[in-house]
Amino acid sequence: MQKNRKIFFSILCGLIVLIVILSSIVFHGKNETPLSVVFLDIGQGDAILISQGSQQVLIDGGKDGKLLLEKLGKYIPFWDRNLETVIETHPDQDHIGGLVDVLGAYNVGAVVETRMQNDSQTFKKLEETISNNKIEKIEAKKDLTIKFSDGAMLQVLYPSESVTDKNVSDTNLYSVVVKLTVGKSKFLFTGDFPTTQENELFGSHVDINADFLKVAHHGSKYATSDEFLNNAKPSDAIISVGKNNSYGHPNPEVLQRLAAHKINILRTDERGDIEYDCQNLNEKCQIKL
Ligand SMILES: [Zn+2]
Repeated sequence: MQKNRKIFFSILCGLIVLIVILSSIVFHGKNETPLSVVFLDIGQGDAILISQGSQQVLIDGGKDGKLLLEKLGKYIPFWDRNLETVIETHPDQDHIGGLVDVLGAYNVGAVVETRMQNDSQTFKKLEETISNNKIEKIEAKKDLTIKFSDGAMLQVLYPSESVTDKNVSDTNLYSVVVKLTVGKSKFLFTGDFPTTQENELFGSHVDINADFLKVAHHGSKYATSDEFLNNAKPSDAIISVGKNNSYGHPNPEVLQRLAAHKINILRTDERGDIEYDCQNLNEKCQIKL
């Protein structure tokens, strides 16, 4: 009896060792938990969801809360009521309009924003909700880092320092620029960052090289210069834009510029939500078709 037990335990131990070895071979190079980046089709505006397991970061919230919550419900499991971080690139309606509803529907861990202020009712309501719900506020400026598992991380590249000019009339000027590094892939999110500020970014020797570029300001002609594209060198350009919008975004010149740089153009008004899956650390993230 004693002998049989010994044999049984030896076989069991052997099997466990074998399973551990096999699984380490199978999962080698794979993200323990896959990460996804979704450019949500919320009409004219920006809303980008980065998810890894139960950790989510939302960059901007479009202008319509109801539509945004519908979209988030598609990508965040119904039992996960926590949204770890919301990044507000700048206080314009088409970037923060949907965020008050998000703060009501999810337990938001922290809001990352610059010190820019805005006179709009939406901005005031948002700030009020943040303070009433005692949500942590983190100032967005260079070198702020948000970590995911498996070494993936988001880094703020711009603004380089605190925005002291709080009531700036053109809020696009200090739009937060963020870079996501996941395995071999890099995403660059530019809010409505204008060409006039690009030199400041180049001057601070920030590495803006990326595979996937969220085109600044919905494809406006006041952004995305040739020099910017020469530095960023993306393979894909994602334009978050509403169908038949009154601004004429994206600008035909910007589309031509992107095409001249041989960059694939993907538009939310044409494709709906644009989702990238990052499953394997040794390969580039893949667009989900
Ligand atoms: Zn905008």
